[in-house]
Amino acid sequence: MAAWFCIGRHYIGGDIANMKPDKLNIMGIPYSVTYCDNLLDVDPDKRETLYGYCDHHTQTIRIYDKDCKIEFVWQTILHEVLHLIGNNTKISILKNDSEQKHNELDCLANVFADFLFRNNLIKIGSEN
Ligand SMILES: [Zn+2]
Repeated sequence: MAAWFCIGRHYIGGDIANMKPDKLNIMGIPYSVTYCDNLLDVDPDKRETLYGYCDHHTQTIRIYDKDCKIEFVWQTILHEVLHLIGNNTKISILKNDSEQKHNELDCLANVFADFLFRNNLIKIGSEN
């Protein structure tokens, strides 16, 4: 069964059957998105286990997705997107400079993912 997904009216490439984009444009900057099935592989230096990783210098996002529900994958994607928005805008609540702020950023990512799924702004469907 062919599947599709969209955010708003914009169709996105990548692993569309699993709603996993391989490219994201954040504030005009293109990022590549890589999915990992091992927590250690999410860290490019393999020093610690991570669910998500982003680097604005190399314009890369890395996401752990093995056996994860799509909603969780998107929580992690949005978490990294918020880090990058924080980096580009200097919005202080998105700055990753304390554990409390990081937890608040994570909460915001989870609420935002929930909002997108509940309102069918991210949804999966079939062409037939
Ligand atoms: Zn983080």
